[in-house]
Amino acid sequence: MTAIWRATVLTIFPEMFPGPLGVSLAGKALASGLWSLDRVDIRAHATDKHNSVDDTPAGGGAGMVMKADVLARALDAVSPDKRPRLLMSPRGRPLTQAHVEQLAKGDGAVLVCGRYEGIDERLISARQLEEISIGDYVLSGGEIAACVLIDACVRLLPGVVGKEASVTDESFSDGLLEYPQYTRPAVFEGQTIPEVLTGGDHAKVAAWRRAEAERLTHERRPDLWERYLAKKPRDR
Ligand code: SAH
Repeated sequence: MTAIWRATVLTIFPEMFPGPLGVSLAGKALASGLWSLDRVDIRAHATDKHNSVDDTPAGGGAGMVMKADVLARALDAVSPDKRPRLLMSPRGRPLTQAHVEQLAKGDGAVLVCGRYEGIDERLISARQLEEISIGDYVLSGGEIAACVLIDACVRLLPGVVGKEASVTDESFSDGLLEYPQYTRPAVFEGQTIPEVLTGGDHAKVAAWRRAEAERLTHERRPDLWERYLAKKPRDR
């Protein structure tokens, strides 16, 4: 990677950023310049005397719709580059770890946060926004969804998480959920740590962890399990 990973967030609530991205791993990495965060206040691009960013839906119905012209001006003020332009949206492609890994390898992302009932459809096509969903539920705005996406990407950037292994050996990285983790004390409310983990045999530990990851994935996520079985090499 040549330049630093850059996130540009378009929102009517710029004060929500960096928010949770300003603390812990992401916050330290932001402060030390491993990634950058630009906030674009959509309202600053309104042109009427009320600084309107929304209007009533064509065809009637409840709520308000974000205006295409105002959003277009806000987007066009972001200097053009190759970063993907994403619209946080419950209708979008569900975000996955594979997509996060791909985004983290790139230059960053431009993220548009909707509010109200969403945004004028013409803006989505005119500016070729890719709609991304963080799950099958509805939030009141795209800001928290944008934080989720940025956090997931930033922790994969080189130098952000201490040991490289801690991001490659975890849930979803090999199509499985993570195995159970333990630490001291050796006995907690009568429960001990599985013996294999304290025996010092690394091969046995690895085998136990894989078996547990497979068991948990099979039990909890039949969808992931089916995909894992389909892809699983014969020698594994
Ligand atoms: N009326 C819309 C929901 C609007 S919610 C619908 O039924 O599809 C307001 C904004 O919150 C959206 O424009 C989007 O930016 C954000 N949002 C809500 N749920 C989301 C989700 N699951 N993933 C990503 N963004 C979401």
